[in-house]
Amino acid sequence: MNGELAARRAELAAACRVLAARDLAPGFLGHVSLRVDEHRLLVRCRGAEERGLAYTVPEDIRLVDLDGNPGAAGELDGYAAPNELPLHTEVLRRRPDVDAVVHAHPAAVVAADLAGLGIRPIVGAYDIPGAHLAAGGVPVYPRGVLIRNRRLAAEMVAAMADRPVVLLRAHGLTSTGPTVPHAVLRALAVQTIAAMALSVSQAGATPTDLPAEDLAELPDLGGGFNIDTAWRHELARLP
Ligand SMILES: [Zn+2]
Repeated sequence: MNGELAARRAELAAACRVLAARDLAPGFLGHVSLRVDEHRLLVRCRGAEERGLAYTVPEDIRLVDLDGNPGAAGELDGYAAPNELPLHTEVLRRRPDVDAVVHAHPAAVVAADLAGLGIRPIVGAYDIPGAHLAAGGVPVYPRGVLIRNRRLAAEMVAAMADRPVVLLRAHGLTSTGPTVPHAVLRALAVQTIAAMALSVSQAGATPTDLPAEDLAELPDLGGGFNIDTAWRHELARLP
């Protein structure tokens, strides 16, 4: 169990650094979590030497229970769980299909939503998983609040419904998946589409959805390519 936990801590720390490297964490806010068992999760916490997501190390990833208590003796010694821990735990409580949760504050995603652009399937083969993700719908939780309790987190999960990603108006996004790479890569795809929509809009045009027949023509290249290779690429390009 300890060897497995150590590997997961390293994976979550790398995930935080990927988010920062891809401009999804312009400040030091944001966190990533992973369900470990029925009652516990690993989550990025803040220690005395906190320097932000870009500098996350495996020691910043701590084991807590669904109520924010230490998941084992000493796990929160010198570390504080995120204020928005309920954002993670409420998703894990209500979505058995989800094991990994990403929360970040990407500026382009916030700007695209505030500009009324939304996350739409405006790209095709440019980013096939992103096109399918957008075509399935990326809902918006319309309150710009800090999700610091179960009541607000439940509102967010209700807005997310059965989708993997929800935008948080004037705040950021929550992205989920069965694994950490799934959740991070979905957040990156949403960021890519948001930035594209803003670019099109700033060029004076209105972003429009890909025709349905083009969407239908986009193949699923499989998890080995979309997840495994994409994740190795993200890890390899880390500074
Ligand atoms: Zn936040």
